Amino acid sequence: MRFIEVKLIKDISNDIPPKGYLSWLDYWEKKKGIKAKECEFLLCVGEPVIGAKIVKVNRSNREYILPICSHCNLQSEDKIFEAWECDLVPVIMMKETD
Ligand SMILES: [Zn+2]
Repeated sequence: MRFIEVKLIKDISNDIPPKGYLSWLDYWEKKKGIKAKECEFLLCVGEPVIGAKIVKVNRSNREYILPICSHCNLQSEDKIFEAWECDLVPVIMMKETD
């Protein structure tokens, strides 16, 4: 396992999770098949309260979800965090079927 640099993205215009998920945190937990236990930013052990959207620093604009605590969620988009790459869940918007 290795960790990578990530940044928050604060795009509230696209903040509704795909159909069938209560929240982005719910989305992460269902995709991973586990409950988020602590903030997934490295060295933080806060309670995960939100599935935050993040991007990898200096990579594509691909968005991922990561459970983080309310404190980390207040940090700026410029701040660089570290996270385990295997904890990232890609955002895949499903097509509306009905
Ligand atoms: Zn945190």
